[in-house]
Amino acid sequence: MLRIKNLNKSYNTRKVLDNLTFNIQPGEVYGLLGANGAGKTTTINIICNLLKADHGHITINNQPISENTKKLIGIAPQENLLYKTLSCAENLQFFADIYGLDKLTKQKQIETTLKAVNLSDRINSPVETLSGGMQRRLNIAVALVHQPQLIILDEPTTGLDIEARYEIWELINQLKNQGLTILLTTHLLDEAERLCNRIGILKNGKILAEGSLSELKKFIPGEEVLVLQTSEEEEAISIAEKWGFPIRRYGGDLAFLLPEPLELKEILTKFDTIPIDSISRQPIRLEHIYVEITKE
Ligand code: ATP
Repeated sequence: MLRIKNLNKSYNTRKVLDNLTFNIQPGEVYGLLGANGAGKTTTINIICNLLKADHGHITINNQPISENTKKLIGIAPQENLLYKTLSCAENLQFFADIYGLDKLTKQKQIETTLKAVNLSDRINSPVETLSGGMQRRLNIAVALVHQPQLIILDEPTTGLDIEARYEIWELINQLKNQGLTILLTTHLLDEAERLCNRIGILKNGKILAEGSLSELKKFIPGEEVLVLQTSEEEEAISIAEKWGFPIRRYGGDLAFLLPEPLELKEILTKFDTIPIDSISRQPIRLEHIYVEITKE
């Protein structure tokens, strides 16, 4: 559906996209995961033909990106693109007019998209009377109104409270189940983990690794993470070295990667020469993979 090959972009002398390459298959949710400044918004602006790349190729449904391909894409930008004094229906009507929907299709699409984002009962409410989560859902409805082939959700839950975030996740899962193709950018690891079929880890304008969560797990030399709190960290590290457990720090916590899941008794026996304040075992998660891949 979307093919991006060797995309390069510099602002003055600063390179922000560096031979960026990835593909999105029809019906998949692809997560572009990267820290602030990694190049996510620049990539989106180029896909939407709002910004020109210096080099590289992008096609959507085998057509090179141009003014003509804009209608194939629906975007929900990071900052809501809504008119606050207009109602939900009026906002959708405005965007439907931009895309040239005829009167009947427009009416049907306003009703369908408001239903999809669970705002049918607010059809005539001005945007300024909606909660932050509702406004974000309406922002997604705007992206859907002209029935595009690819939906781009740029950091869809940034700044929302946890309840509103769950609602957006539920909505994205519904869109996914309907077979929509979605490019989702986020810096939230749990969001990418929950929603995406495949994830591309972006740093300094380059995809460092991509794949499904299970494919990305191969970047970690271990099957399980063991987090240990002890007053004898140096001794714990030398025990881990003796057993060949790779040593890591996650947010300051001392952790070891276990090559295979071990019985707790077995672990305690290995560390029985030091005092242990706490021990926790965690499955490999995207946060561990992300740290592994993005470390220098
Ligand atoms: P964020 O999550 O903070 O939005 P991002 O991954 O979307 O980050 P971009 O907005 O694409 O990153 O920015 C990539 C880099 O390019 C950043 O260092 C940013 O400062 C720089 N940049 C973006 N737009 C411009 C511009 N118009 N002129 C100069 N530099 C820019």
